[in-house]
Amino acid sequence: MDERNALPPEENKIPLKEGFSPSTGTAKDVLARYSHCAICGANLHFTYVTNFATNLTEEMAKCLECNVKARHIVHRLQ
Ligand SMILES: [Zn+2]
Repeated sequence: MDERNALPPEENKIPLKEGFSPSTGTAKDVLARYSHCAICGANLHFTYVTNFATNLTEEMAKCLECNVKARHIVHRLQ
């Protein structure tokens, strides 16, 4: 497999402000933006990885249509 397919280049990432702006619009708008691709509007595919040693959960959102990583957020448990 081509190494570029395994790790998308940095420029493929959507800037956080464009991908997720929680402070504007109604709750419905925010939810729609959170779960849909900012580029094509398709449903994002979410993956969660939890490390119980560090109490951190990584949330990764990817658009399967554009094949871009839309978001990568680390949540602290507790
Ligand atoms: Zn997309």
